[in-house]
Formats: sequence, structure tokens, C-alpha cells
Amino acid sequence: MSDLSGNPCILCCAITGSVPRKSDNPAVPISITEQVESSHAAVEAGASIIHAHVRNDDETPSSDPEKFARLKQELNRICPGVIVQFSTGGRSGAGRERGGMLSLRPDMASLSVGSNNFPTRVYENPPDLVAWLASEMVKYQIVPEVEGFDLSHILQAIRMHEAGALYGRLYVQFVMGVKNAMPADKAVFDFYVQTMRARAPGAAWCAAGIGPNQIVVNEWAIAAGGHTRAGLEDNVRLDRKTLAPSNAALIRRAADLCEKYGRPVASPEQARRILGLEEALAPAP
Ligand SMILES: [Zn+2]
Repeated sequence: MSDLSGNPCILCCAITGSVPRKSDNPAVPISITEQVESSHAAVEAGASIIHAHVRNDDETPSSDPEKFARLKQELNRICPGVIVQFSTGGRSGAGRERGGMLSLRPDMASLSVGSNNFPTRVYENPPDLVAWLASEMVKYQIVPEVEGFDLSHILQAIRMHEAGALYGRLYVQFVMGVKNAMPADKAVFDFYVQTMRARAPGAAWCAAGIGPNQIVVNEWAIAAGGHTRAGLEDNVRLDRKTLAPSNAALIRRAADLCEKYGRPVASPEQARRILGLEEALAPAP
């Protein structure tokens, strides 16, 4: 573990997502005001990236660029320096609407590079849509966080990066524990890490687990020298009986694991340096 101490860990907070509702956990932030308040507390708990979807007033997922614009503006104002990452995955089947907010130039955007099953549907990412989303991110100088729901997605991310199709440094997230997709399996996780080290040496990676796997995958990632994601999008509970009181509570749990493994929690400035976003640092308010 000694080789990890002093190696800062980036904590990403996935605040809302497209699935959980207030009826699942009243702490899920829906309105822009709630999202900004929840993000602010998560940043104080250690988050340096805010991964965001937006919702309509009735809690259904939205692709409205105007909502994304307000959210970005408020996050930049209330949490200066924090890395704003928009989801382009929230509305499977919506086609290019999923990238309609990229012209707002968030620091980062999530990018899925292949398809897989989700709990009740196919998560469709056809090659032409993937190529278009990646090219929009190049156009607007947005660093993608590639979502790896499967080994093939990780290999595809590496190929796309080598081909110059992804803007900036390669950053891949392993997503484990989505029902009907890749489970949270330690041997698979270890192989993902080996694959990144062997085929994309020097590239940073992170990992997220869904539901009760969140804390498990947080610990695997922190122990293995990667970065990690927590938040109500992926998991609304602290344990089987207890709802998470906030996004901040889930980030705090990950921060406690960083302490256990001797890894400092990355500040937004450190996270920007690790991800190659320094030049995009927000001006002082
Ligand atoms: Zn998301």
C-alpha cells in the first residue's frame, strides 16, 4: 500500500442520474436548486467532479440544454473550480439529443462507446452515435469520461484514444453491478486494471459500483490506486435498512476509505492536474 500513499484519489459524485426518484430516497436532488445544494455539500465532503443529469419537474429525465446551462452556471458560482461533468447517457434511444448540451462546454462529459443490457432495456450506443458524440467533444474541447460497462468498451476506448477520436487524456470508468450487465466481480475488476496498465500505461481510471456494490467497488478502486465514484445516481442506501441521507454522506464514506488506504482526497485543483484540465480552471469569483 505504501506505493499509493500520497497518490491523490479523485472522488466523483453522481448526484441524480436518470432513474432514482424522491419515492426511492427523498434526498435525490431533482430541481436545479436542489442539485446545486446537494453538490455543494458533496464537494465539501471531498468530491471534485460533479456528474450530472437534469430532470423535468415531474422527475422524468430531461435533455433540455437550458437546464444544463443553469446547472453549470450555478455550480461554477457556488463550487468554484469543481469539475462539471454532464451525462450524455441519460436517455437511451434519444439519439443526438443526448449531446445537445455539449456546446455549453462542460469540463467533461460521460461517453458510452458500446451497447449492453440495462435492468429493463437495451442501452443503445450505435457506432455512428458514439462517433458523433466523441467528435462533438473534440469540437468543444470536452474531456470524455468513457463508461466501461464491459471489457469491450474499455478496449474500444483505448482504440478510439489511439486513433485521436477522444479529446484530451484518456479517462475510463469501470461500471460494475448494473443488473443484466457486468457484475461487481473482483477477478474481472483486476483484469480491467491490468488491461489499463498494459494497454494504456499512464492513463487514469476510475470505478463505480451500483447499489450495495458502491462501497465495495469504492474500496477496490481506492486500494488499487484508481479513482472512484459515489452518489445517489448509483445507490440510494447506506446499508439494507438505511437510506443515504445525502450525496455528501456517500462521498464521505469513500473519503473515509481513502484515509484507510493512506490516499489523500484530491482537491478540484489536483483532480484537474491529474485529468489534464488545468487550463480550464475556473477564474476566481
Ligand atoms: Zn449518469
